Amino acid sequence: MVVGGGLAGLEVVTALAEHNAQDILLLESGPGDDLAHIHLSLPQDQATEAVFAPENDPWFHRPWESDSAHYTGISGLRRRLGGRSLYWHGVVLPLEDWALSAPWWPSDVVADLTKSWRGGPSLYERVTGDLRKWSFLTPSSAEGVRTFGGQDFLPLPRACRHSSGDGRWEAYTPLARWRRADGGPRPPAGVRVVCEAEVLAVHVHDGVARGVLVRDADGATTTVTADAVVLSAGTVESTRLAVQALTEHGSLPEPRLGGLADHIVQGFVVRLPATAAARVPEPGSYYVPADPVSRSYLRLDVRDTAPGELLLDVRVTGEQFPNHESSVECVPAPALPWRTRIHAALHPQDRELVAAQRETLRAFWGHLAEDLGLPAMPMEFTVYGDPARDNTRVLPSRTRSQAVGVPETWTSLLGTEDHEGGSLPLGQTLTSRHEFADLPGLYAAGPAVFPRLGAANPSLTTLALSRRLAAILAGAG
Ligand SMILES: Cc1cc2nc3c(=O)[nH]c(=O)nc-3n(C[C@H](O)[C@H](O)[C@H](O)COP(=O)(O)OP(=O)(O)OC[C@H]3O[C@@H](n4cnc5c(N)ncnc54)[C@H](O)[C@@H]3O)c2cc1C
Repeated sequence: MVVGGGLAGLEVVTALAEHNAQDILLLESGPGDDLAHIHLSLPQDQATEAVFAPENDPWFHRPWESDSAHYTGISGLRRRLGGRSLYWHGVVLPLEDWALSAPWWPSDVVADLTKSWRGGPSLYERVTGDLRKWSFLTPSSAEGVRTFGGQDFLPLPRACRHSSGDGRWEAYTPLARWRRADGGPRPPAGVRVVCEAEVLAVHVHDGVARGVLVRDADGATTTVTADAVVLSAGTVESTRLAVQALTEHGSLPEPRLGGLADHIVQGFVVRLPATAAARVPEPGSYYVPADPVSRSYLRLDVRDTAPGELLLDVRVTGEQFPNHESSVECVPAPALPWRTRIHAALHPQDRELVAAQRETLRAFWGHLAEDLGLPAMPMEFTVYGDPARDNTRVLPSRTRSQAVGVPETWTSLLGTEDHEGGSLPLGQTLTSRHEFADLPGLYAAGPAVFPRLGAANPSLTTLALSRRLAAILAGAG
């Protein structure tokens, strides 16, 4: 039984079916009748609005509270079959060696990801190869380097397909492997999907997870049994379900799990005059990989906004360090689900990273202003976590009225990058076979299981680990 049909859960069930596993049940709290990526079904501006003004997205749902501005705003679930696999941008980067190094990630998981899996190519090689076939993803290579603002940028790998002519695109979703002859998705043989089925709790009997308690669209609740239960309901919901189960089972001293982390992301946007356009790389997305000291990667998006005019969107994405104080906490009560509250805490190393990222951005801006012959306007930032200067600064409605040549800085609130993870770490809360160490029969998938995040976007690793878990459950791993 797989709880949650988003990027991780769908990859687990699809891979299970490819191992010829039978009797797989996928429970999804949202509906399953619109399975198109938002950038395929909506024009660019409306898709951007659905993400950044989530009150316009009927599937947006935030089942938690936060005791700060972090994990508010656009931070939440997209409750529909497909989950955030129908919203993501397809950026696929492997976790950096420095993040995968001891002592955080279990060595057997790292070897499967990076060296060899089941006697063949590594999981990263296999997933990247499959995504390349699906999307014509081009590998980053030395020939693609663009030197700009004193940095050597590589093309950013994205698992995306463009639809012909109208500028629309979609990023990979495991639903792409569910295609019927008429183009619509249908579950593979052996998989049953139940939508509008909200899982309220894990059913534990004799110290073993035996199924779940589900509420259907009419509000009726039922216990559904299973030999194995996989939590893939998004990091916070999976952690809420785990906190409830582990508390009732007596294996948590307090109803909370720490380690919750998102990426620390800051940047600036600047409109460039037509005179500068010739010296800027052609429109597209580029990046400079993260090194072990900065633990952040630099990304550059070049967009042509008006004839002869360009917009540069520059950002650094860095690792929030694993921190027990940053947590998902529940309030035990007879009614289910338990109320869930996020406490986002910064580690001292995170504060250093925030300051270092700002220096990187200032240095890059100084360099490129000089290269482009622009006045080097000073670059100011407000306090970290300021909701008045968050990543909504990059919205076209804001940048359109921005003065040319003047950089506008912004800092994401934690949770709003949608890269949240780390609260059910492999090798700690979970064994290296993805099973809860204190609750046999219960497993987890998604970025929640990362022992540390690194700087890379999580989904390549999410897909790889979902395949690893499926092989384990099918007796093939
Ligand atoms: C706009 C956007 C752009 C992004 N771009 C990138 C990118 O370029 N690269 C990258 O690596 N990552 C990106 N991400 C992040 C990526 O999409 C997430 O990390 C990923 O989707 C997480 O997978 P998941 O399966 O854990 O959660 P989700 O995909 O959110 O799936 C969780 C599913 O569980 C269901 N669910 C929740 N609670 C319950 C319950 N109680 N019972 C039953 N079902 C439940 C939800 O409805 C949902 O369908 C992006 C995200 C967004 C929103």
